[in-house]
Amino acid sequence: MALDRKARTGTRMVRCEGAPRPQPVNVDICVLGAGIAGVSAAIEAARLGRSVALVDGQPALGGQAVNSIIGTFVGLFSNGPNAYQLTHGIADDILRDLGDKGALHYRRNPQHTTVVMYDEVALGRWVEQAVLKAGVKSITGAILRGVVRDGRRIRALDFATRYADVRVTAAGFVDASGDAALAWQAGLPCQEADEGPVYGTQMVVLEGIDEANLPAREELAERQKKVVEKYGLVRQDGFAFAFPGRGTALVNMTHVETPLDPIAVTQRTIEGKAQADEVVHMLKSEYPKAFGKARVRAYGALGVRQTRWIVGRHHLTVDEVRAGTRFPDAVARTSWPIELHEREGYIWEPFGPDHIHYVPFGSLTPPDADNLVAAGRCIDADTAALSSVRVMGPCIAMGAAAAHALDLAGSGSVHQIDIGALQGRLKDNLTRTG
Ligand SMILES: Cc1cc2nc3c(=O)[nH]c(=O)nc-3n(C[C@H](O)[C@H](O)[C@H](O)COP(=O)(O)OP(=O)(O)OC[C@H]3O[C@@H](n4cnc5c(N)ncnc54)[C@H](O)[C@@H]3O)c2cc1C
Repeated sequence: MALDRKARTGTRMVRCEGAPRPQPVNVDICVLGAGIAGVSAAIEAARLGRSVALVDGQPALGGQAVNSIIGTFVGLFSNGPNAYQLTHGIADDILRDLGDKGALHYRRNPQHTTVVMYDEVALGRWVEQAVLKAGVKSITGAILRGVVRDGRRIRALDFATRYADVRVTAAGFVDASGDAALAWQAGLPCQEADEGPVYGTQMVVLEGIDEANLPAREELAERQKKVVEKYGLVRQDGFAFAFPGRGTALVNMTHVETPLDPIAVTQRTIEGKAQADEVVHMLKSEYPKAFGKARVRAYGALGVRQTRWIVGRHHLTVDEVRAGTRFPDAVARTSWPIELHEREGYIWEPFGPDHIHYVPFGSLTPPDADNLVAAGRCIDADTAALSSVRVMGPCIAMGAAAAHALDLAGSGSVHQIDIGALQGRLKDNLTRTG
């Protein structure tokens, strides 16, 4: 239909004059990475009255929780029949708001763990609205290009975006990049797994499934093992969880390497989708009643579990995790099993109903930086220990800890804050049992 007005014909000439200057942003706290750890840090810091920038290379907020379609929150509850919530803060808001929308489904296994399925579209919108409401300045599509460091202090981060470069200057910084990108580019020591890679997964959502005929998790895992060669599968176990009433299933049945190399990781991303297609072929052939009409509704971005992480003041060990060591500077807790993904399968070491293990503040703090705190899957731990604390429950708790620590430090050092005061602020995430 033609518009009932004169056609617009006017233009104006524009030209880039000289070398473009980076757009300056000045805040109290800059959070690198808008995954669940960074979102928690940013919202907590804003609620403390701090001005906050939340910066991420992806075009949408939410990190892997949203963009890789992880699909379930784990590590958020203790184990066993009397499970209680271990992490609060934004976890309370998410459980309440998504629960009200029918966008959650609890899978409780009385012997072991509580898994909370979520609708990733609803979570993505929740993150955007919560960040906006908190007054956080978010910058997406912004890749970290450089760190301005002055001895023990980080002064600014430089980003490239498609529109202009951006320089964020702040008093305190959170490295919630998952890959320790900030610490790495600041020249601080980092670590990687040295006994082979920790495998990632290409997550996929299927639609058109028949929930009533869905095989039990154990049966599916047994069948997958038996038909690995027949369908050319890489992984021998995994799961397909239905979201009740929607005719969809979340499928986590592939294993892909996630190298820190731009060209290799692009290849692995394509390989991950090919693996997922083989899995779908297997499901349709082996379980025609449940999956005969299934179609791929969405492939997530390649899911990355463990790549590179910081060297902090404390190296959390698997023995400390198994022992449930309660550190004097504990800031987060979980009961999630050791879950270490290798090529064909994964090491799964669950804990009993009374078990809780803790993350010390020392594992979040590089000793040579006064105003940098890591949170999420790039904190200091051995490879197995990290596998049990990098899940979303403790990631939310670590984000909150980073925000409060930087708030307490102000223009001083996070190494000199009153740990008792920090723990007082985080008491719900450390001691609450109901
Ligand atoms: C396949 C898979 C399945 C999983 N299953 C579960 C599960 O069921 N339940 C659960 O609770 N946990 C699960 N986990 C673990 C959990 O999802 C992640 O460990 C957690 O989401 C990590 O959150 P994060 O905030 O630390 O990092 P991320 O979500 O990885 O966020 C980091 C962000 O930093 C940004 N970034 C990184 N580098 C740069 C840079 N240089 N410049 C700009 N931005 C940058 C990235 O774009 C990203 O958005 C799973 C993980 C994977 C991979």
